[in-house]
Amino acid sequence: MSEKKNIAILGSTGSIGTQALDVVRANTDTFVVEVLTGNGNADLLIKQAIEFNPNTVVIADESKYKQVKDALQPHDIKVFAGKKAIAEVVEMESIDLVLAAIVGHAGLESTIAAIKAGKQIALANKETLVVAGELVTELAKEKGVNIYPVDSEHSAIFQCLAGEFHNPIEKIYLTASGGPFRGKDKTFLSSVKKEQALKHPNWEMGAKITIDSASLMNKGLEVIEAKWLFGLKAEQIDVIVHPQSIVHSIVQFTDGSMKAQMGLPDMKLPIQYAMGYPNRIKSDFPRFSFFNYPRLTFEQADTKTFRNLALAFDAMNKGGNAPCVLNAANEVVVEAFLKDKIGFLEMSDVVEKCLQTIDFITKPSYDDYVATDKETRRVANLKI
Ligand code: NAD
Ligand code: MG
Repeated sequence: MSEKKNIAILGSTGSIGTQALDVVRANTDTFVVEVLTGNGNADLLIKQAIEFNPNTVVIADESKYKQVKDALQPHDIKVFAGKKAIAEVVEMESIDLVLAAIVGHAGLESTIAAIKAGKQIALANKETLVVAGELVTELAKEKGVNIYPVDSEHSAIFQCLAGEFHNPIEKIYLTASGGPFRGKDKTFLSSVKKEQALKHPNWEMGAKITIDSASLMNKGLEVIEAKWLFGLKAEQIDVIVHPQSIVHSIVQFTDGSMKAQMGLPDMKLPIQYAMGYPNRIKSDFPRFSFFNYPRLTFEQADTKTFRNLALAFDAMNKGGNAPCVLNAANEVVVEAFLKDKIGFLEMSDVVEKCLQTIDFITKPSYDDYVATDKETRRVANLKI
């Protein structure tokens, strides 16, 4: 019998975090929760801690520290507060695997700290690789750390590559649902509101990634994520719109053979695969029926209407700190869109202006990424 895996779940109160806890709940003989962290939702964090009895809990929002501390005192669970504390607790000796499920640039520091401490990583926080892909993948190599993708498309590629790691990839096809606005034109998009953008046809996710999916920025971020995870060049990555979200992505090898990974759209599957790798764990997730999906369809992405995908390819090709600029500007505009301060199409305009104006750095250090992020946010906010 193998030993249990001790897991730190960063962002346990979010969409990925709560589904990861569903996986743990169904597999208590395989996984133990060592650390839970949340940002503002103290009530849920407390509830999770009481159920899973971790060694340590961190609440990023320091104003909620007393509430969490008092609630967990009788349970003998250590409580810390603040963003720095998240990057510190991941170093705990008892942790085997860190699930990085914080949203946005905010997840970068703790993911890097976990890699430095030699922890295996299950990576949901795609922004980490968008912002600092070169630095993060070099560090992981140096430390002998594996980064297991949680993002469904990247999990699909990874699953297709199992047993093929020695075979070169010719290209990959990342599938995209197309989101709620697939097929719409600019006139329609100019007046859409957040309520419409938040209704994703196939996936239930956090607000930021749901808006990113509607604007195709999510696919742009995923192209950059794939580049770093699988060591690919831009011309080896293609995006194909597949509205049913059943084929999660495809690898094409040098002999022309293609492998796809399929299944119902349920994030618990890629989360569990990343947490359990190399083992597949028996699950009771709903099974796919061909007769519920008599047609699987594929079409080209409309990058003229949804400019974010083209902007992401541009930023990737430019390299350096350009993807960091793309990400920071996007985080600002998504937040503004969620507050009804900016229109749907204007989001791409602001991202593009930031890419044109922020100083370019060819080989950024960690501090350069932090500075680029800060400066881009300042400039983006001026343009809203
Ligand atoms: P979410 O908004 O539901 O949850 C985010 C989590 O991060 C919460 O626990 C929140 O408390 C925490 N958090 C937010 N800001 C923080 C900060 N400044 N400091 C510390 N903690 C903070 O987001 P999500 O949908 O679960 O997405 C998480 C990550 O996973 C994102 O990078 C997203 O792109 C990626 N992802 C999500 C899905 C999905 O289905 N939800 C799928 C693929 C990839
Ligand atoms: Mg995805």
